[in-house]
Amino acid sequence: MALRVGFVGLGAMGLPMARNLHRAGLLAGSWNRTAAKAEALAAETGTTAYPTPAALAAECDLVVSCVSADEDLLALVTALLPGLRAGSAVADCSTVAAATARTAAAMLAEAGVDFLDCPVSGGTEGAVAGTLSIMAGGDAAVLERVRPALEAMGRSITHMGPVGAGQAAKATNQIMVAGINQAVTEALAFGQAQGLPMDRLIAALEQGAAGNWFLGKRGRTMIRGEFPLGFKVALHAKDLEICRRMAAELGVKLPVVEMTLLHYARLPAASADEDISALFRLKSDMFSASDD
Ligand code: NAP
Repeated sequence: MALRVGFVGLGAMGLPMARNLHRAGLLAGSWNRTAAKAEALAAETGTTAYPTPAALAAECDLVVSCVSADEDLLALVTALLPGLRAGSAVADCSTVAAATARTAAAMLAEAGVDFLDCPVSGGTEGAVAGTLSIMAGGDAAVLERVRPALEAMGRSITHMGPVGAGQAAKATNQIMVAGINQAVTEALAFGQAQGLPMDRLIAALEQGAAGNWFLGKRGRTMIRGEFPLGFKVALHAKDLEICRRMAAELGVKLPVVEMTLLHYARLPAASADEDISALFRLKSDMFSASDD
C-alpha cells in the first residue's frame, strides 16, 4: 500500500519537496504555520490543508518536516504527538543539531513512533528538481519503509548510521560549504582586483582543478553584485552555530567555522536574507579599501 505522507513546513525548500511528493502520488496534505501556504498548495494539488499538526499526523503514515531551527522542530514534535499513531514515522529534513534529532526521536519513541533525521543538501534548485542529497540517521528498516517518499524528493539517499548521524553528516557538509564560499568569493575578488576579464576567468577556472558547483552556479552573479537565493546567509550562520556547538563538544574550535561566522556578522544586516555568495561584498570591499 502506498505511504500517506503529510508535509510540514512549506518554505523555500519544503514547498517544492511537497510538490515532488504529490507528483509521486504520495502526498495526503500539508500543514504550515502560515496557513495560506498550505491552503495554496491544497488548491494547486487537490490535497488537504490540515488545520493542525495533530490533524495531519492522525491521517498519515509518514510526516515529513522541513522547519527552520532546533526549537521549531521540538515545538512541532510536541504539536504532532497528540495525533501520531504508533507505527507511523517522522522524517525531519530540517538542519538541526544531532543532539536535537536524538531528543525528537526520544519524545516520539515514547508514543511508538519512529524518527529519522533526513537533512538535505542541494539547495532550492535540488528541492525543485527532486535531486537532493539526503543524509539519513535512524533505523535502517524504517528508512526502507519510507524510502519511496525520500526518493520522490532526492536523487541520493545515504544511510549514515543511528539517529543524529544524518545531522552529523550535514554539519560536515556545512563546514565544507563555508570553506568553498570563503575560497571562491576571496579568489574572485582578487581576480577582479587584478583587472582580469571575469566571465572568461570563471569559464577557465570551471574547467580546471579548482572548478566546483558554487563557482559554476554563483560565480557569474556575484561578480555583478547580485546574490539571488540560493541559500540564505542567516540559515548558513545558524548551521555554522550548530557546527560550532558540535565541535565544542569535542573540545575543538574550527577555524573555517569561526572565520565565516565572523565575516557573516560583518555583512550589512540586509544580507541575512541574501544568498551566501553575498560574502563577495566583504571580499571585494577589502580591495577597494586598499585603494584609499
Ligand atoms: P524557510 O523558507 O525560511 O522556511 C521555513 C519553514 O519552516 C516555513 O514553512 C515556516 O513557516 C516553518 N517554520 C519555522 N518555524 C516554525 C515553527 N516554530 N513552527 C512551525 N513551522 C515553522 O527555510 P528553508 O530555506 O525552507 O529551510 C528549511 C530548513 O531546511 C532549515 O533548517 C534549513 O537550514 C534547511 N535547508 C535549507 C536549504 C536552502 O538552500 N534553503 C538547503 C538545505 C537545507 P512559515 O511559512 O509560517 O514561516
